[in-house]
Amino acid sequence: MTEIEVRGLTKTFRVGEVEVHALRGVDLKIERGEFVAIVGPSGSGKSTLFNILGGLAPPSAGTVSINGQDLAKLNDAGRTELRKKAVGFIFQKYNLLPTLTARDNIEIARHIAGNSGTPWDAQYQELLKLLGIESRLDHKPRALSGGEQQRVAIARALVNHPSLLLADEPTGNLDTENSKAVLSIIKHLNKRLGQTILMITHDPEAAAFADRTVTMRDGRIL
Ligand code: ADP
Ligand code: MG
Repeated sequence: MTEIEVRGLTKTFRVGEVEVHALRGVDLKIERGEFVAIVGPSGSGKSTLFNILGGLAPPSAGTVSINGQDLAKLNDAGRTELRKKAVGFIFQKYNLLPTLTARDNIEIARHIAGNSGTPWDAQYQELLKLLGIESRLDHKPRALSGGEQQRVAIARALVNHPSLLLADEPTGNLDTENSKAVLSIIKHLNKRLGQTILMITHDPEAAAFADRTVTMRDGRIL
């Protein structure tokens, strides 16, 4: 089954009189269960692609299907639904809410998707064990290390069982040791649980954890 199918994707930003061609015709196909890294220098269009795949921004032209659904054929409510349930996101800066505990940061993602009010199931308890954060759940983000915060962010991204995990520079703020730990977990999620993962990174060592690497340059896939 195909998880992501992108055809002829372009994105042009207008900055005053200037047009910035962030994506210049991207074709990409990712099957369910794949772990793919997208690499490329700064400014090559990686985050623009990420935002479009996640339904966070519209393309200028071209088509994107996620999980068999053409994003252009979804209305706002459909796209919101997709973002909440079919796709999990992690970012370089964790994006945890600072006033909430780790547990409530995770719980709020369930609430938004309409899944709250039930206990966390056994499968999810296993995931928390794998992430090594069960004993840290009652702490607020500032009491957690960067590596712990990113592991909470992974837990939050996966709490609604999305078929796709999108990661934009997930180790960009971490030291070598924490990077390796987070990448090992991501790899495990893919290999043991079959989680489809698309990870953007500029770090070749991070990309080496993926099964396939796609290189971007100047808005194109090489
Ligand atoms: P990467 O993530 O690979 O560093 P980006 O996708 O962030 O690259 O950016 C690709 C190009 O698009 C760059 O030239 C960047 O300056 C430009 N760009 C990205 N977002 C915007 C925006 N919102 N407005 C104008 N230009 C943008
Ligand atoms: Mg980027």
